[in-house]
Amino acid sequence: MSSFDNLMAFQRETEALSQVAGRLGWDQETVMPRGASEQRAEEMAAIDGVLHARRTDPKVADWLETADAPDDAAAAQIREIRRSFERYTKVPPDLSAEIARVTSRAQGIWAAARAEEDVPAFLPTLNTVVDLKRQEGEALANGSAIYDAMLDDYEPGATAAMLEQMFGALRPRLVDLRDRIFDAAPGPELTGEFAEDDQLALSTRLAEVFGYDFRRGRIDKAVHPFSSGSGDDVRITTRTNPVDPFNCFYSTIHEVGHAAYEQGIDPVYALTPLGRGASMGVHESQSRIYENQLGRSRAFTGWLYGQMTDCFGDLSIESPEAFYAASNRVHRGYIRTEADEVQYNLHVLLRFDLEHSLMTGDLRVDDLEAAWNDRFKADFGFAVDKPSNGVLQDVHWSVGLFGYFPTYTLGNVYAGCLHRALRQAVPDLDTQMAQGDLGAATGWLRETVQQHGALLLPRDIITRATGSAPSEAPLLKYLEDKFQMLYGL
Ligand code: ZN
Repeated sequence: MSSFDNLMAFQRETEALSQVAGRLGWDQETVMPRGASEQRAEEMAAIDGVLHARRTDPKVADWLETADAPDDAAAAQIREIRRSFERYTKVPPDLSAEIARVTSRAQGIWAAARAEEDVPAFLPTLNTVVDLKRQEGEALANGSAIYDAMLDDYEPGATAAMLEQMFGALRPRLVDLRDRIFDAAPGPELTGEFAEDDQLALSTRLAEVFGYDFRRGRIDKAVHPFSSGSGDDVRITTRTNPVDPFNCFYSTIHEVGHAAYEQGIDPVYALTPLGRGASMGVHESQSRIYENQLGRSRAFTGWLYGQMTDCFGDLSIESPEAFYAASNRVHRGYIRTEADEVQYNLHVLLRFDLEHSLMTGDLRVDDLEAAWNDRFKADFGFAVDKPSNGVLQDVHWSVGLFGYFPTYTLGNVYAGCLHRALRQAVPDLDTQMAQGDLGAATGWLRETVQQHGALLLPRDIITRATGSAPSEAPLLKYLEDKFQMLYGL
């Protein structure tokens, strides 16, 4: 066998084991008995150890040295295996172990501090996490910027400078739009009680409409919705709230976007480094365009209004037009995960600037809460009332996820670019969506983005799919057009 064949055979087993590890994670969040958590931690640590040893196996370095790529796909496989090998060998094993140990404890300390509204109880731990992550960043960066090295874990090729420019253009226009909406009359709101079984039945129907393949997937309930797995086993979860069926429906559509991406990848890439989404940002572009540009469009909500009336009887809302406004309602709120399309990115931009400053050393952990509260007041127009609604609301920093937040907004930016190109490719999109037919839209996304998996780098995927480099301009235009119309601005 050639070096390339050896490399791919070895990698295939690593990928299979990594899918097994992912499925243990799925199980833990869905059906695992509560009493199993300690044993499960040991099981996961054992499989992580095996995976780490395989990812840093010296044989991989030898094969990489001599592997020849017969074609572009093979060259991309080698690129991804090399990236992973370097990622895992650059960080000293002691430091990796220390980060794993500290962050697994930090998550509990964060949760307790949040429950008690006690920021000082969390800060010493966060200080340690920040310090360790900066050490890791230094090891990965090899003399260049620490934060850019961290971004590379989630969004290969992205840099802080690139994001600062893009986000800097978004922020003032979004603050201005949010300001004008808050000055206008509030939109209609869906009220009432909605039975869980009916919500789940309609949510299953929505997953089908958006092309989720149930033969290779399943839906379960979880506290925080997520998608898990690749290839022929891609599972999603959703949740219900008796007074807010939109929460269930749009969580499902969002996760179907992630899952459709994994299910849509060319099967020849299954169990290889190309058999997964290209980055967190591209992944989020699929979930966001399914959820927002398609799922919250005037045309599709018109169809959904009919479905909901069939399912629940008369609603508190009397027309498809008002239903469209209710499903796009902009509301004051503190929490990122509950934010509407207008304000969501402001939440992300805040976190990006703060975590970037923590990593460059311009912001000290002791000053983080004050910096958060000042920025929140400036961008959202009112003050944070308690830490669980402010600096303690997200789990990310406690578990060492620095460089992850910006991929949420990058996903929205990519979704904006893809949506503009999709509208040009499918001129009668609204007529189709008004009948609950998403086939042309999801087919175009599969063709231009999903089937390629990680063949291309994120920026190149968007550029090839849309004909131009990623830019925030289409997202801004989409948001301003949509919400100025909705709120009569
Ligand atoms: Zn997502």
